[in-house]
Order: sequence, then C-alpha cells, then structure tokens
Amino acid sequence: MWSVRILTLFPELFPGPLASSITGRALKEAIWEIKAIDVRDYATDKHKTVDDCPYGGGGGMVARPDILGQAIEENFISNQNEIIYLSPRGELFNQGLARELTQRKGINIICGRFEGIDERVINEYRIREVSIGDFVLSSGDVAAYSLLDACVRLLPGVLGNGGSLVQESFGLDHNYEMLLEYPHFTRPQNWRDRQVPEVLLSGNHQLVENWRLEQAKQKTKEQRPDLWNRYLSRKEK
Ligand code: SAH
Repeated sequence: MWSVRILTLFPELFPGPLASSITGRALKEAIWEIKAIDVRDYATDKHKTVDDCPYGGGGGMVARPDILGQAIEENFISNQNEIIYLSPRGELFNQGLARELTQRKGINIICGRFEGIDERVINEYRIREVSIGDFVLSSGDVAAYSLLDACVRLLPGVLGNGGSLVQESFGLDHNYEMLLEYPHFTRPQNWRDRQVPEVLLSGNHQLVENWRLEQAKQKTKEQRPDLWNRYLSRKEK
C-alpha cells in the first residue's frame, strides 16, 4: 500500500476530492492510504501557536522549526520515503516526478500556509521542495491534491485500462512521448454542423493512428513550443 503522511493546519481537507472517483476507489481498495496530521497538535502553548513573525522583519508568519520538527519526527515514514514541501520556489512538478514518487513506498508532504516554513527545517530533514506551477496559491493543501492525484492514478491497479496511461499527454508510448494528446470525439456524429473527422469512422486502425499522431504533433506545436522543440531534438538523436 502506498502510504501518504501529510502535515497541515487543516487536516479536515483530506482526503477531500481524492475520496471521489478514481482516486477514491483506489483508497477504498487500499491501494493507497492517507493520514493527515494537524500540526497544531504539536504546539506547546495554550493558544496552539505554530508560527511566529519572521526574523529581519516583513509581513506574514513563518512556521516554527521546533514544532514542525516534532510533528515530522513523530509522523513521517522517512527512511524510505521522501519528504516534500510544497512551495512555489521548488522544482516544477511533472509526470516524470509523479512516476518517480510512485516507485517508493509512499510520500511525506508538508503543506505550508501564510509566508512559509523556517528554512532550517528544510535543511535538517533534507526536504525536497516541489512547486506545482509558476503561480502562488494561498496554501499547500490545494497543491497537494494535484500532486497526489497525479501519483495515485499511476499506482498499479488504479486505472483499469492500461492503454489510457500509455497514450495520454506526457505518456510513455514512444511515438507520443513528449506530445500532448490528440483530440477526442464521440456521438453524435454531427453536432451543430460540426462533423466528426472522416478518418475516425473509417475503421482503418493504421489510418487512425497516423491521424492521431499528426494531430498530437499539431497541438503540441501550437500550444507548447517548448515541448515541441524537445520532441524534435529527441527524434534527431
Ligand atoms: N511567501 C511564499 C508563498 C507562500 S504561499 C513565497 O513567496 O514563496 C503559502 C503556501 O502555499 C506555501 O507555503 C506553499 O506550501 C503553498 N504554495 C503556494 N504556491 C504553491 C505552488 N505553486 N506550488 C506548491 N505549493 C504552493
């Protein structure tokens, strides 16, 4: 079972949306588990304070290293699993990192709120900082939903049809690797005078495959020139 331990100020947010649909079914089937720990349980004063003003001044509040450290030591499974702090200044999360994280027995996550956490905690526990994109959220909890969803659907047995994992955007299929997904169509065949592309009705697998690869290339070229250039340079090797 893939084990998630998550430190947060709002444990009631978990499993949250992850309890529905695909990730929810996997949770019920015990393919993965999640334990959300309230950092406030490790506060030592009667007001349950977990943060304080930053040294050097400036606005916001910073999570205290002593309290966070205690919560980490008592809850994280850290000899095999990485500790991740969700933070906008971390390395960018992507499908490769999701795959890497699912190779382990689980994951430990720290969700920040307010200004962030004391830098010494990051160094003390060799924490890996991960960002889900170049924008600033008000909490790490929302970022954790994305990261966990991306990981859980990769766990063995979670997606019934193995094929759908291989061909989607950023998938593993060698033709489609680094390409965005081709467009999909379903019934009705004619909707508001918009027809489903002929080739998809042809029943000819090879033609369909060729068309999809062409479409995937087109989409990638238009939407993500960065991915397109990487795709081209890989092909040349
Ligand atoms: N002062 C910080 C931002 C704090 S945002 C800075 O400028 O870097 C509050 C919390 O939201 C952070 O502690 C982090 O856990 C989370 N967060 C915000 N944006 C994020 C992102 N893009 N990816 C992952 N976590 C994020």
